[in-house]
Amino acid sequence: MASENTHVLVVDDDPAICRLLHKWLTSAGYIVSFAQNGVDAVTAIDLACPNFLVTDWEMPGGISGIELCRHVRRTELPQYVYTIMLTGRSEADGFVQALESGADDFTRKPVDRSELLARLNAGSRIIELEHRLSLLANSDPLTGLATKRTLNEHLEREWRRARRYRTNLSCVMLDIDFFKRINDTHGHPAGDEVIRTIGRVLSENCRASDFVGRVGGEEFCVLLPETDEEHAVAWAERLRRRVAGTPITFDGKSLAVTVSLGVAQMVDETDAAAQLVDDADQCLLAAKQAGRDRVIGLGELRRINAACRDPQNAAGAIFAGIAARDVMTTIVAALPSDATVGAAARYFLRFRYSSAPVVDAGGQLIGFLSEKDVMNVLLWPDCWTRKIADIMKTNVVCYDEDEPILSIYEFLCRVPIRSVVVSNGGKPTGIISRGTLLRWFSNMVVSRRIHTGVVEDSPPAPDSNELCLTAAAILRQVYELQAALEDGLDDVAPHVIGTASRIQELVNDLLAGAQRDVGPANERVVASSGWGPPRVDSRACEWPADCSVAGHA
Ligand code: GH3
Ligand code: MG
Ligand code: MG
Ligand code: MG
Repeated sequence: MASENTHVLVVDDDPAICRLLHKWLTSAGYIVSFAQNGVDAVTAIDLACPNFLVTDWEMPGGISGIELCRHVRRTELPQYVYTIMLTGRSEADGFVQALESGADDFTRKPVDRSELLARLNAGSRIIELEHRLSLLANSDPLTGLATKRTLNEHLEREWRRARRYRTNLSCVMLDIDFFKRINDTHGHPAGDEVIRTIGRVLSENCRASDFVGRVGGEEFCVLLPETDEEHAVAWAERLRRRVAGTPITFDGKSLAVTVSLGVAQMVDETDAAAQLVDDADQCLLAAKQAGRDRVIGLGELRRINAACRDPQNAAGAIFAGIAARDVMTTIVAALPSDATVGAAARYFLRFRYSSAPVVDAGGQLIGFLSEKDVMNVLLWPDCWTRKIADIMKTNVVCYDEDEPILSIYEFLCRVPIRSVVVSNGGKPTGIISRGTLLRWFSNMVVSRRIHTGVVEDSPPAPDSNELCLTAAAILRQVYELQAALEDGLDDVAPHVIGTASRIQELVNDLLAGAQRDVGPANERVVASSGWGPPRVDSRACEWPADCSVAGHA
């Protein structure tokens, strides 16, 4: 007897054989479907991959049983398809040819009922074994859900299917809120139980055709075929409420857990399967940013972004036509990946930077190092002599110098990341942090005399105290530079450039402040002075030749 839901696809152009096999197989408990020729069979397999394929050898329509077997073995399918070839041929070499084309078994016509059922039964043992092995290899041990790799394979298949048949496909990304706190407060076993429970809730609320995977520590991804975004958002919302309304019990304690979800639907412009996940991920980040315990769909996210781009909107108008290069702070020197942690720490201290891009020998951006990364390893043995390549972050968010500043603004508003790297031809040339943007924005608002979206009739009087403080800060920078130069530095350029960049920013502040007093005539002065940092000679951007920041400590 077949195990529950075992699906057999019978391919034969003879209706009498189809009727007979239907009777035998359904009464033995199989779910049976039919195709009349090889071409229809290829489509049927693509739409719903069977466990067994029982196929005739000679069929009309260009694809024979042999070619169908080859197709099944060549194609990446969601499961192993056990294939039995039927034929009226009597030659002995038919058997060999069938096996060589990828068939698992072979039986002659007229088909004998008990023989066919016995062969299917033998095949079931192979299928069962294959199923157990693939479960072991492809599922996450904690939740039993698919791993990221399996999910990706499934995503590629669903994506192709949705494209070909023009059906809907939605993706939901889920992340547990403040999960670290659960680990920190109740211990890792409690955290594990929460992950297991969320995984179970997800599986219980999915249809058989949906696909759930655990794609990160406390992150899950669900693919919903034949589902548009509106329905996917509604599904995600039900799930969110279910999680929020059901405390998870661990060790006699009741843990309140919430989740954030991002939802995206495949649309015409979704030009790669990975982009669908990426879109859902952007929505998830937006849901986190908006306060967690909520669902955000791509449609809603796009509406929010469009509002920002609206020229009627002050932010959109201010950012129009401004590129990353106009706002970034120029990088004095990128750290080479073979520099030591000690050298990097001294670099941060000496130039008063809190982070720097890391480059390979060819000057290409490969990572990012912050003071925090250095702090995190201070207690490691030999931390000072370790290479920064071991501790840098490799997932650097990088934009080209030409990138409209509005995209970067939206990104930094949405995500917890504090800064992005700006590059030219893969080489880092600048950094834009939230602070850089805020300073730039505040200068722009003042210089254009825009206040909360309205151009003010009479500009506010200049704040002489503020101007005084800025002037004093410039003076301090100049004195510090002078003192450093008198001390005799052997790599003067980075120090001078670093200080000059800071002075330039302060000068911009000064001009913007003065703007309130002198009006339009001075706007030209501000504009021609440029809002960006000084352009820096690329040679000066290189790490000192001897790489020994240590020498100046
Ligand atoms: P947010 O709301 O922004 O998502 O905050 P969060 O604390 O959930 O996110 P964060 O990424 O800071 O922390 C995720 C934590 O998940 C960090 C990691 O130690 C923990 N984690 C990852 N995998 C596992 C696991 O298998 N079991 C347990 N118990 N914890 C895990
Ligand atoms: Mg035939
Ligand atoms: Mg996470
Ligand atoms: Mg989380």
